Amino acid sequence: MTQVISAAEAKTLLANVMKDAYPDERGRFGPFGGRYVPETLVPALDRLQAGVDRYLHDVDFLEAFHAELKSWVGRPTPLTHARELSKRWGAQIYLKREDLAHTGAHKINNAVGQVLLAKKLGAKRVIAETGAGQHGVASAAACARLDMPCTVYMGEVDMERQAPNVGRMKLLGATVVPVTSGDRTLRAAVDEALRDWVSDPNGTYYCLGSAVGPHPYPYLVRELQSVIGREAREQMLATTGKLPDSVIACVGGGSNAIGIFYPFVKDTEVQMLGLEAGGLGTGLGQNAASLAYGRPGVLQGAYSLLLQDEHGQIQETHSVSAGLDYPGVGPEHSLLMSIGRVKYEAVNDEDALAALAECCAAEGILPAIESSHALAGAKRHASEHPGKTLLIGLSGRGDKDMPTLQKTILKDQV
Ligand SMILES: *Cc1c(COP(=O)(O)O)cnc(C)c1O
Repeated sequence: MTQVISAAEAKTLLANVMKDAYPDERGRFGPFGGRYVPETLVPALDRLQAGVDRYLHDVDFLEAFHAELKSWVGRPTPLTHARELSKRWGAQIYLKREDLAHTGAHKINNAVGQVLLAKKLGAKRVIAETGAGQHGVASAAACARLDMPCTVYMGEVDMERQAPNVGRMKLLGATVVPVTSGDRTLRAAVDEALRDWVSDPNGTYYCLGSAVGPHPYPYLVRELQSVIGREAREQMLATTGKLPDSVIACVGGGSNAIGIFYPFVKDTEVQMLGLEAGGLGTGLGQNAASLAYGRPGVLQGAYSLLLQDEHGQIQETHSVSAGLDYPGVGPEHSLLMSIGRVKYEAVNDEDALAALAECCAAEGILPAIESSHALAGAKRHASEHPGKTLLIGLSGRGDKDMPTLQKTILKDQV
């Protein structure tokens, strides 16, 4: 990685992180984050910022949010001791079960929180972007529940690849708009959603799906997803009587990872490990590991680490898991890596799929391919540090991945 922070700066930034004095009022996580947007988007972001300041920690808002999390999402999600994986891997493995959250992944936490915020702000409709379709489904479900019209922008290419999710969104009452511009995948869908938002910043609320984008989104999404880590921290203490030695999660844009990491950031005895999509290898275009192989730059409104060539052109990415296939990462992860608080590594396609199969056979749990990157990283970590207690964020379930699994793991079976 390119060095963007000196050792002295890293020390100051780490001290700020320990005091929870971040992001700053401009949305900066150290040098990362901020707002790099055209003038036309500023009023919409200012309005959102005012809403976040006013409502996000307001008692009534939090009460409504936690009521939905409990009775509709199914929280708290369980913590499962993975007995057989613990035996096999020589470590105590605990799984935080976001696969059991409504709609099958952690994304619903953020979606329901933001749609509640949209109502508080007086928005008349919600828009969202989606890549693999998981955030689109979560947004459509939250909008149906809270009686808000929902429009989801989705790249044409992704609509073909993820046809069942398009159907789910439609059943849940959303309008799905195919995006035919740019790369016709997630990046173009975000651009299209931003364009829609600019045209009516008062009546429209943009529900962004990960801890990325311009300020205040990375902060807002972290706050909503931190419920994962708060629950897991309490559950680990109740179950084992102590904090875990390590917390491990997969990183795409970084929302499930920051959600489970954040409540442990100040526990300096707890190591944290984020696993990115290592894809087919280390070459440009072969992976989606922005922290491992990226350089700093601006993508979709924020300064962070990105996969780009020497001219600053954003690179194509590859991962067997659609949910990790994105060339950028949330600014808070860039900061936590730069100051040495969290370690990030890549897991390749093959190891992620092998970990998925092992978790199925050993624990009777079919994890999402995204989450399987965390499992594979945990297995590697356990072999290097035997006997430790590892808390793994199981971000979602793998039912949605069956078409990919038919073509890979199941290919040679009849
Ligand atoms: C979308 C998704 C991810 C990746 O998104 P983050 O914002 O990095 O969490 C990971 N796991 C699952 C199951 C997902 O659906």
